Amino acid sequence: MKLLFASHNAHKAKEIQSLLPNGFELKTLNDVGLLEDIPETGQTLQENASIKNHYVWQKLGLPCFADDTGLEVEALNGEPGVYSARFAGLQKDGNDNMKLLLEKLKDSDNRKARFRTVISYIINGKEFLFEGIIEGRIATEPSGTQGFGYDPLFIPDGSTKTFAEMDLTEKNTYSHRARAFARFIESLKSVISYSGCVFIPLLVETV
Ligand code: IMP
Repeated sequence: MKLLFASHNAHKAKEIQSLLPNGFELKTLNDVGLLEDIPETGQTLQENASIKNHYVWQKLGLPCFADDTGLEVEALNGEPGVYSARFAGLQKDGNDNMKLLLEKLKDSDNRKARFRTVISYIINGKEFLFEGIIEGRIATEPSGTQGFGYDPLFIPDGSTKTFAEMDLTEKNTYSHRARAFARFIESLKSVISYSGCVFIPLLVETV
């Protein structure tokens, strides 16, 4: 069964595919030929997930889900949050973002941070939202080569490794995305394949 994900991000798609139960196949916007960048003009993660999803829903009319994630750093009053991708500029460069984050935290003993993911799912014109959070801390220097974004700096509570030092299976035991996704999957109560996409007649709102 196919599930359409409103994203072009190959890293995220790989993580999400690894979270899907057997029998689900993830399709991205690249697979359905929707190649343009979707504007992320919201002020919150929820708004952005919703904007991306409504954009695809209006263009294609297919059941689809979108996610938006932010790194929320306590000493920076929740920054970069919804601006995580473009923290250091519109080039959206992961290394620049990490450099800026370390610079801003250089005098701070408080390294507490969390990742938060919001998933929006639209079916029959009705929207459902799911949230996943992982608390942790920001390391003093990047470590590890796996994952993407801020992974080399983020150490989840309960571990001594950064996300970038973990393989996907280990990251999934902690990650914000895995937690949000588990809630999303839990609510898919009855699934019928329809027109090459997944049609879900009954959903339970969990957030
Ligand atoms: P997006 O808008 O949901 O694509 O995420 C915004 C930004 O948050 C991304 O560009 C990454 O820099 C960062 N991000 C999202 N998810 C993760 C993750 O799992 N690990 C590290 N960074 C992430």
